[in-house]
Amino acid sequence: MRLRNITGSREVIGESRFVIHEPKELRGKWQERFGNTNPIRIEIGMGKGKFLHTLAKQNPSVNYIGIEKYSSVLLRAIQKSEEEELPNLLFIRMDAEELPTVFDKGEVDRIYLNFSDPWPKDRHAKRRLPSQQFLNRYDVVLRQEGRLEFKTDNRELFDFAVEELAKAGWKAEKITYDLHNDADMCEGNVMTEYEEKFSAMGNPICKYIIYR
Ligand code: SAM
Repeated sequence: MRLRNITGSREVIGESRFVIHEPKELRGKWQERFGNTNPIRIEIGMGKGKFLHTLAKQNPSVNYIGIEKYSSVLLRAIQKSEEEELPNLLFIRMDAEELPTVFDKGEVDRIYLNFSDPWPKDRHAKRRLPSQQFLNRYDVVLRQEGRLEFKTDNRELFDFAVEELAKAGWKAEKITYDLHNDADMCEGNVMTEYEEKFSAMGNPICKYIIYR
């Protein structure tokens, strides 16, 4: 997935109208940027962007923002938008650590984490996107009634995430350890690139929806 060195990816991103280049300037003004008062939903670590593109197409009255750290992966999402432009889908290339400088308090309606990098070494636990440290950042930008959804096939990462949510003062609304065989939670499920790959290999997919 980390196609970090695709020649010219930074240049393409730099010129793309689908990418917000100075996101901090839009803090508190994201709805204005979209030109409506629709809710803002973000995916962090969106990779090639299939999940968010599908959601944006299905839900024109929701604004979506994809956040991705690596240019070379973001490039794929931009290519998808070039092929089929959606007015309610934008991208930011940044590290999710910067979230509170880019979104105002409560500005985000929902957060999606899909197949986040596991960072298996203990000393890297803080880098995991469902860690307490990241939950504290999400706590700032997510509206009080907002929800965070996380999917992964990595059972160790998921168990870690479930432990962390309680420590950070969040509560689970729904949890499944086999999403694709859970009729309630799977209703309307949009598969990500990683989800397609790992479920095809027979891996069960874990998912939680959490709130404070
Ligand atoms: N969500 C996609 C999917 O399910 O197919 C991609 C999953 S991929 C394993 C994880 C993605 O998260 C990578 O593209 C990686 O660059 C991105 N990522 C990891 N840590 C990040 C961070 N701190 N901020 C932004 N993106 C991050």
